[in-house]
Amino acid sequence: MDDKHYRARITKRAEFAPDLWMIRVDPGQDFHFAPGQYATLGAERDGRRVERAYSIVSSPYEKELEFFFELVPEGALTPLLYKLQAGDEILMRKVAKGRFSLDTAQPEHTNHLLVSTVTGVAPFVSYTRTLFKDWKEGRFTGKHKLFLLNGASRPWEFGYREELEDLAKQVPWFRCVFTASRPWEDKNWKGEVGRVEVHTMQVGARFGLGRKPLARAGRVASVAHLVN
Ligand SMILES: Cc1cc2nc3c(=O)[nH]c(=O)nc-3n(C[C@H](O)[C@H](O)[C@H](O)COP(=O)(O)OP(=O)(O)OC[C@H]3O[C@@H](n4cnc5c(N)ncnc54)[C@H](O)[C@@H]3O)c2cc1C
Repeated sequence: MDDKHYRARITKRAEFAPDLWMIRVDPGQDFHFAPGQYATLGAERDGRRVERAYSIVSSPYEKELEFFFELVPEGALTPLLYKLQAGDEILMRKVAKGRFSLDTAQPEHTNHLLVSTVTGVAPFVSYTRTLFKDWKEGRFTGKHKLFLLNGASRPWEFGYREELEDLAKQVPWFRCVFTASRPWEDKNWKGEVGRVEVHTMQVGARFGLGRKPLARAGRVASVAHLVN
């Protein structure tokens, strides 16, 4: 292997839907990252290396790395990743990248709106897993509050709903809303309906914050600050 890549071993694979799945990998060596960063994963096809960016779902406190994938059937890499099972190897660059981090040190903006669709929830799960451990061990006071909106077409596409709803029951600093834009495809769905951007307009009501305006808003996986 060259000096830029690891061959990480897949330790677990779980399916959320026919085109959505997660894997956990053991990088085999040190891999440093901050919550919100992404890894560059790859595979070889016809003697060529194909690489793409994937947000890291796990917390830096975990020994293994976790990823949440959506299959793009005509894509160059995801059909190759889709074939990989526990025990297989995956190419991974040794250096994590990205600046999509959460600043819980600054005193001004303490309400953070986290907006995502489907796999865009990945960096937010890394935030919450990290903050939960910090909170339990006294490093995070809970002064900063996280409000997560996750949208999908169909309810079964929310890979991390159970984990995040469980967390919301346990801590005072995290709330989450899941919204399905095609709720009629699951008769048992009792959550919110409509596209995620509609809910960003009503976020104060959704989270019981009154009529607070957004200070900043962004794209599919975005962090905005609610004016305190
Ligand atoms: C910072 C960052 C983090 C990312 N994190 C994740 C992640 O956690 N999970 C994840 O699954 N992807 C993530 N992506 C997207 C990922 O890097 C690839 O673009 C994606 O997996 C498609 O790769 P591919 O080689 O299969 O398709 P490509 O050959 O690159 O794309 C083929 C075509 O499909 C389109 N396309 C790409 N993605 C989708 C999609 N989801 N739905 C429909 N069409 C699409 C492309 O625009 C292109 O036209 C992230 C991208 C960035 C930049």
